[in-house]
Amino acid sequence: MRGQPQVLVNTPEIELWPGGLLRARGNRDARTLARARRVLRRKRDGRYLAADLPEGLQPLVPNLRREPGLDVALRALDLEPARSRPGIDVVPTLPLHRLEARLDRLGIDAAGYAGRTGLVLVAEPAWLAFAGSDRFGRPLWLHVDAARAWRNLRDAALRDGIVLESISAYRSHDYQLGIFERKRARGQDLEDILTVNAAPGYSEHHSGFALDIGTPGEPPAEESFEGTPAFDWLCRHAGEHGFAMSYPRSNPHGIVYEPWHWRYSR
Ligand SMILES: [Zn+2]
Repeated sequence: MRGQPQVLVNTPEIELWPGGLLRARGNRDARTLARARRVLRRKRDGRYLAADLPEGLQPLVPNLRREPGLDVALRALDLEPARSRPGIDVVPTLPLHRLEARLDRLGIDAAGYAGRTGLVLVAEPAWLAFAGSDRFGRPLWLHVDAARAWRNLRDAALRDGIVLESISAYRSHDYQLGIFERKRARGQDLEDILTVNAAPGYSEHHSGFALDIGTPGEPPAEESFEGTPAFDWLCRHAGEHGFAMSYPRSNPHGIVYEPWHWRYSR
């Protein structure tokens, strides 16, 4: 790896992953992924679409040319993200226009939802920085400024004998849509899902500035986290590193209390 931080390049329908960070699904895949500069991955279901190899693009699915969003992804393949100067405004965001039709299909009235919750649509960044691994060893992605702040927060906690783990960081609109589609397919009521999950497009996780924090031995994303020394430490020190809890008890958005969910802002 070069000295630069690893980067996930994001387009509306396809993500461009560093090949070395993806899990292979077979021996042939493993060899291809290890050699790939980038792997094109469909956001909706995580399917590997193509590998960018030194000798050229190798399709990993039949009919690659008919894949929605392929042209945009191929153009992004050649762009090295601008990251010469740190700062919150450097990273461009993706357009939001695909989202409304998809919310419609889920039965969510976007204007009504936004008015009721006070939440706003959150655009995805055009690229994200590698921010370490979650407790299962899966790569975590954050806005480059939040990734740096998270490392500082984690190190500061460790110096006080507190182990912080990230459970979840950046999530795409497509990922959030998938959560809704799976829960709906299991027969859950839309209104019930909306008390636990922000509507696709409205989650702070889309921004790359929010992450869910846990500590070893605690179940992820449970209210019991508030009883841990890790939570106590966060309440005293997270602010010094630019992090704040987004959904305290009785928050105006009607979202359940989430002591594990923290957002970075400068
Ligand atoms: Zn969260």
